[in-house]
Amino acid sequence: MSFVDVQFLGCGDAFGSGGRFNTCFHVKSAKNSFLIDCGASSMVAIKKFNLDPNSIDTIFLTHLHGDHFAGVIFFLMDARYLAGRTPPLTIAGPKGVKQRIIDTMNVLYPGCWDKGHDFEIRFFEMARGVRQVINHIGVHPYKAQHLEDGNDFILRFDVDGKVITYSGDTGWTDNLIPATKDCDLFICESHQFDKQCEFHLDYKTIKDKSDQIGAKTTVLTHLGPDALDKLNDMTLQVAFDGMKISV
Ligand SMILES: [Zn+2]
Ligand SMILES: [Zn+2]
Repeated sequence: MSFVDVQFLGCGDAFGSGGRFNTCFHVKSAKNSFLIDCGASSMVAIKKFNLDPNSIDTIFLTHLHGDHFAGVIFFLMDARYLAGRTPPLTIAGPKGVKQRIIDTMNVLYPGCWDKGHDFEIRFFEMARGVRQVINHIGVHPYKAQHLEDGNDFILRFDVDGKVITYSGDTGWTDNLIPATKDCDLFICESHQFDKQCEFHLDYKTIKDKSDQIGAKTTVLTHLGPDALDKLNDMTLQVAFDGMKISV
C-alpha cells in the first residue's frame, strides 16, 4: 500500500523560541524512513516521539547551521552506544557535509570519530539544480537565499508519487516557484510575522506570494518569537512539534 506520512519532530528556530525543538521532519513511506534536517535537539525529539533511530535510512540536510545539522552528532553517538545500529546510514547534504560533521564531532566528542562505526556511513554531496535519486528518494535541490557562501538548499522530494518541498532557511527567492510547483506539501519557514529579512521568510511575504506558490498544502515552520506572538493572525497552517500529516 502506498503512503507518505510526515511528522514534524522539531519545528523551532535556532533560539528555542516557544520551547520548540530545532528543525527535524520525519518522512515515512513504504520504501523509506528518512529525516529532513537534524538540528541540535533532534535526538531528544526522536526519543520524545518514540521514533526508532535505526529505522532511519537517510538524513537530508538543507544547510550546515547547527539548528539544522548538529543533531547528526548525537544521532551517531546514540547509534554507537545505545541503538547498536548495523544498517547503513546515508547523510546527504551540501558541499563539505562530511568534513563539517567530522569536525563538529571532534569538537563535541574528541576521538570518537576515529574509533569508527559498526555500520557504514555513506556521505552524499547533493548537486544544485538537478534531480538525483538517493535510496529511492528523488531530491531536487534549489539554491536558497540564506548563506553568503551559497551552500544552502531548498529541497524538493518526490517519494512514492508524492512531492514534498521544504524551503530550508531562506529569504524570498523565485527558486521557490519551480520548487513548489504542483507539490503536495510545502513546509515553509516563517521566522518573522511581517518584518522583512533578506535571509529568512516572513508570514506576510508568504501570503503576498501565495499565487506563485504551487503547493496544495503549505505548513509554516521555524517561527521566531515575533511570529509566535501572532499565531491568531495567521490563516496558514502552522506546525507544532509532534504534528503528523498524511501527504
Ligand atoms: Zn534555522
Ligand atoms: Zn540557517
